[in-house]
Amino acid sequence: MKISRRALGISSSPTLTIDARAKQLKSEGVDVIGFGAGEPDFDTPEHIRDAAMAAIREGFTRYTPAGGIPELKEAVCHKFKRDNNLRYSKAQIVVSNGAKQSLANIFMAILDAGDEVIIPTPYWVSYPELVKLADGIPVCIEAAEKDGYMLTAALLKKHLSPRTRAIVVNSPSNPTGLLYTQEELFAIAAYAIKNNLWIISDEIYEKLIYDDAEHISIASLGEEIKKRTIVVNGVSKAYAMTGWRIGYTASEPELAAAMDRIQSHATSNPNSIAQKAALAALSGPQQCVEEMRQVFSGRRSYALGRINKMPYLSCGTPEGAFYLFVNAGQACGRNFRGTTITDTDKLAALLLEHYRVAIVPGRGFGAPEYVRLSYATSMENISAGLDRLEDFLRELQ
Ligand code: PMP
Ligand code: GLU
Repeated sequence: MKISRRALGISSSPTLTIDARAKQLKSEGVDVIGFGAGEPDFDTPEHIRDAAMAAIREGFTRYTPAGGIPELKEAVCHKFKRDNNLRYSKAQIVVSNGAKQSLANIFMAILDAGDEVIIPTPYWVSYPELVKLADGIPVCIEAAEKDGYMLTAALLKKHLSPRTRAIVVNSPSNPTGLLYTQEELFAIAAYAIKNNLWIISDEIYEKLIYDDAEHISIASLGEEIKKRTIVVNGVSKAYAMTGWRIGYTASEPELAAAMDRIQSHATSNPNSIAQKAALAALSGPQQCVEEMRQVFSGRRSYALGRINKMPYLSCGTPEGAFYLFVNAGQACGRNFRGTTITDTDKLAALLLEHYRVAIVPGRGFGAPEYVRLSYATSMENISAGLDRLEDFLRELQ
């Protein structure tokens, strides 16, 4: 029996695969420490869970409009005004089953076969695969660590083709934690306007930024760039709601209508109960977001300090998200108990097998010399997991 070229042309999400492996080992009683998936370890705040329970009790359990209930769209519009100084109407909002579906909708709605999307590298694992699923071509542009992984107009110019349709901007970035400044965003915006391109602005980590960093939405830089920008956001990271599966987009009404049509056939509405929970998250008290951010901030400093003292590893200071994207190039080529560490895939596999620590190798992010550690886990786990990592590295010859 035939499997489509489309399905054969993509890989599984390595972040989800590693997370599933770590969770399975744990359920089998293995003492594994997971730095794998980017998922807050906190419980969803209580007032949000209460809203979901109320929705169940009130029988809010039926189909809703495909792109989300009007109250939630209204709350999303209000969030954009409050947090990003962006004015949208409900007709510009589509609520989906996670920001991942929002991104899938976008690529389905803007790409024809062979159209190209520029993706700054290192990138979040799903961007190239989602572009391919929509029969597009991901054009992954390598941005150097020494330049802070920054996508510049000069880099963009090198990769522009007559088929280029869009640029992905992910600030703060998964996996690097890069946060673009207003000036840098202006340069990308000017380039997009000049070359008639869409901007896909994935802002899912906007609330998780540290020190004096400031998050700016590229859409807020002027009316012209706003029209070309599709803002992607969701409740997974800011409100510890990964399992609820609610994300959303804001875009021009024609594009929103196109994505709504796609979603109406692909999945219908996002879960009705989760929509009520997301409504409580966006329109309720925001103190919980800040409390979680402060905890992440403490973990970031601790983990970063430890990593940069370890042999063979180095990591710049991420300004946002909850990952350390660690250069492990110097560990490659070394020997662990008679086995050569050929690459970071091997490194991650040996670390899991012998020290029961799960990390994500960089290949899936387009940066094979790196590994990603998520510090969205307890301080106790971080401390014990880093002890193990250090012991592992000290064994290398
Ligand atoms: N964008 C980025 C950069 C992410 O890290 C994630 C996390 N999975 C998503 C989008 C999707 O998040 P979700 O589907 O849980 O809303
Ligand atoms: N975004 C998270 C990560 O990068 C969750 C897993 C996923 O959706 O890929 O780990």
